[in-house]
Amino acid sequence: MRIAIVGAGSAGLFAANEIAQNLGNKVEIKIFEAGPSIDKRYCPQKKEYECAQCDPCRIMSGVGGAGAWSSGILNLNKNIGGNLEKLCSNASLNVNTIIEQIDTFFVKNGAPNNIFDPNKNGKELTQLKKKCAAEDIRFIPIRQRLLGSENTPNVIKSIVKHLESQFNIQIIPNTKVIAFDTQKNLYFKEGGKEHFDYLLLAPGRWGMLWLANQCDTLGLKTFYEPLDIGVRVEVPSIILEDICENIQRDPKFHIITPTYSDFIRTFCVNHEGYVVKENYEENIVGVNGHQISINGDSETSNFAFLIRQKLTAPLEDTTEYGRSIAKQTSILGGYKPLLQTLGDLRNGHRSREALIKRNPVQPTLSDYTPGDIAMAYPYRFINDILEGLEILDKVIPGVNNNSTLIYAPEFKRSAKRVDVNQYLESKQAANIFFAGDGAGLSRGIIAAAVSGIIAAKGILKKIH
Ligand SMILES: Cc1cc2nc3c(=O)[nH]c(=O)nc-3n(C[C@H](O)[C@H](O)[C@H](O)COP(=O)(O)OP(=O)(O)OC[C@H]3O[C@@H](n4cnc5c(N)ncnc54)[C@H](O)[C@@H]3O)c2cc1C
Repeated sequence: MRIAIVGAGSAGLFAANEIAQNLGNKVEIKIFEAGPSIDKRYCPQKKEYECAQCDPCRIMSGVGGAGAWSSGILNLNKNIGGNLEKLCSNASLNVNTIIEQIDTFFVKNGAPNNIFDPNKNGKELTQLKKKCAAEDIRFIPIRQRLLGSENTPNVIKSIVKHLESQFNIQIIPNTKVIAFDTQKNLYFKEGGKEHFDYLLLAPGRWGMLWLANQCDTLGLKTFYEPLDIGVRVEVPSIILEDICENIQRDPKFHIITPTYSDFIRTFCVNHEGYVVKENYEENIVGVNGHQISINGDSETSNFAFLIRQKLTAPLEDTTEYGRSIAKQTSILGGYKPLLQTLGDLRNGHRSREALIKRNPVQPTLSDYTPGDIAMAYPYRFINDILEGLEILDKVIPGVNNNSTLIYAPEFKRSAKRVDVNQYLESKQAANIFFAGDGAGLSRGIIAAAVSGIIAAKGILKKIH
């Protein structure tokens, strides 16, 4: 029995583990990964890990997937990263048990015993919830484990070692799959094809456009998902200290904006962290954030502030819409992220380097263009961001200051969701399974792992 997994991210690695745990060496599993092995995920030109200029992009692509260079915040909650409860119950699985199983596996592979549980500080949590309720903000309390970017690669290395030494699993880096077909053949960039009994496609966001194109070519149905677009906000870390250190490391605030009734939320909060540049495709730069050490080591904290937008006819293609905004922003920034102070954004001025230099909050990203985000983003989104920050300021005083730094574009392009059954097998092609962010089935490390495990259980069910 031969199984191929495309993508060595969270979904692919957890799927492989689940299958092998159950079948041992009765199956041969090959994981094809377009990017380099975990040791080689640094930029050969710049000799640094943060560089996002290479093809494939070292941040998004390589063994460990996009999670390998993330802060490694594990959201141990069924409400984060997709509709995990529904995904699991469809497959007759208990979502909390699966999340627990994933967390235990991370710990076994060296994840630090560093849990942030908002319920531990019940009094502070109640106070925060009260404040939020008074301001029409929803706060989502979640248990989180923080790996920290400095630990995440070691955890990935340990998982890789476990999979390759215990089972008949081969993880093959620098091997881009350029196509698959419904006969379960894979075709490679270097030429040649290989046949398998089962395919599991888990190419993450780096491979999501490729996957959607492949599905279109093969007549496998896909659906558009909402776009998450906004900015990355950077503030002095002291502003977030009380919440991030006493209540929740990555606090989730949900707001409905007054003018447009749009949903805007905080996402990927990096307390005492860094803003990083991200390259999705040629001519489109974006921003993201990460935290190098568990305790944080910068003087600022950053978070994504994202508006969720669904589109209806005549343009349902949220990917294309998000891409066009990001492209316009990238062009304006000379293919560097735009940076503006909130004061300038509010007052309709382009930010200049001289002002940024004397701004009380200093950017942690050095490669930016001071600019005017309002020239690149639709009025509606700028309005949502300004209104959202004004409301958020009532529970996090200081976020709405003139000196707050705003970076763009920050967008989480949603992959097209593949039409799958309860075990994430294509409804149109037997024995082809999908998992993770690239198939529109998850958003986040834990959620991707959950989907990988469900797909693995689907494969196991067919084999037994
Ligand atoms: C900077 C950053 C910070 C983040 N921080 C967090 C965080 O703190 N917590 C959290 O939960 N999530 C975080 N995320 C998101 C998280 O990393 C993803 O949700 C998760 O990695 C998705 O897992 P996946 O397995 O679906 O895909 P990925 O991890 O993206 O892995 C997919 C892999 O498939 C490979 N691939 C794609 N196409 C092909 C192909 N054709 N052939 C061969 N290989 C291919 C890619 O190279 C990639 O390595 C962050 C992401 C980034 C970029």
